Amino acid sequence: MSELRQDPVSGVTTVLEPERAGRPRDFVRMADELTDPGDCPFCAGHEDRTPPARLELPLPGEASWTVRVFENLYPALTAGPDEEWPRELDAPWPYRGTTGFGVHEVIVESPRHDDTLASYTPEHATLLVDAWALRIRGWREDGRFPCVLIFRNFGRAAGASMSHPHSQLIALPRVPEALVHELGNFSQEATERGRCLLCAVLSADDAGGRIVFDDGVTVVHSPWAAPSPYFMRISPRGCSASLADATAAERASLGRALVASARALHGAFGDVAFNLVVHDAPYSAQHAGLPFHWHIEVLPRTSDQAGFEWGSGVYTNVVDPDVAAAALRTGLALE
Ligand code: AMP
Ligand code: ZN
Repeated sequence: MSELRQDPVSGVTTVLEPERAGRPRDFVRMADELTDPGDCPFCAGHEDRTPPARLELPLPGEASWTVRVFENLYPALTAGPDEEWPRELDAPWPYRGTTGFGVHEVIVESPRHDDTLASYTPEHATLLVDAWALRIRGWREDGRFPCVLIFRNFGRAAGASMSHPHSQLIALPRVPEALVHELGNFSQEATERGRCLLCAVLSADDAGGRIVFDDGVTVVHSPWAAPSPYFMRISPRGCSASLADATAAERASLGRALVASARALHGAFGDVAFNLVVHDAPYSAQHAGLPFHWHIEVLPRTSDQAGFEWGSGVYTNVVDPDVAAAALRTGLALE
């Protein structure tokens, strides 16, 4: 079983998972070329090579699944059905840690190996959003975890080990530092100015012309203080804490926005690697009624983080977000 260890000096939490070191990687070494899809456990027809499905969603008219969710075969965090909470580790003072209590699921986004987010139809992308929302809701009902994170690694440079289109869900035993920070920022704006922080950010990016895509329900924008080149945030116009509570129309709109962001990147740069992370309000914050506006961050891997970023938590960005927004809009128009 993995362990969650916290460094007392930096406050940084690390999942120690030595047994995951040997998990398969289907990217050929040193290149983004893929190996034979015939070996891929996520392809249609290879369902017996993964744990059993927890959710299967077919597109209307399809006999078989389009999106399929199952437990990660090499989970970073696990919890047995009867386990209620993590166990404190017997750590040498001043270290602290707990058992790696949580959930790690794989969300296979398509039965086809060579599909990409940019190539999904709006209906297909909506089905993916439906799966995300259903799993977030499911673990909220389970009640044992304060927080879930959904993320997507695309391309080797973004940390992906499998090339078949997929995203992942991790439920954590406590709210991670990044979300604790965001919650604090939302609470401060609500206390000091009585408004939602992300709604204010959207107003500023509307006025500044940094919008990449907008259908009136969901916006893709290039934030004024983007931490890296061509960084995008995808946000619903309506202020809501959790994607789990999105209406069917909002989920369909998010599907369109996701595809638009991937097409904008593809149109501007071709097959660039990227990470995508859903920032949903931690369940504990939802129960406490804390202010939050869910959103998605898209981080293209156009530059490497180096010593300064690691040492300071301060990022460097060589592309003006206004220029990035224009390039992404042009990229989207070209697709
Ligand atoms: P990534 O490393 O971001 O590409 O995510 C792929 C995930 O799939 C990894 O976390 C692997 O542990 C997981 N994985 C690899 N093979 C299987 C399999 N046969 N069944 C379930 N999960 C798998
Ligand atoms: Zn495949």
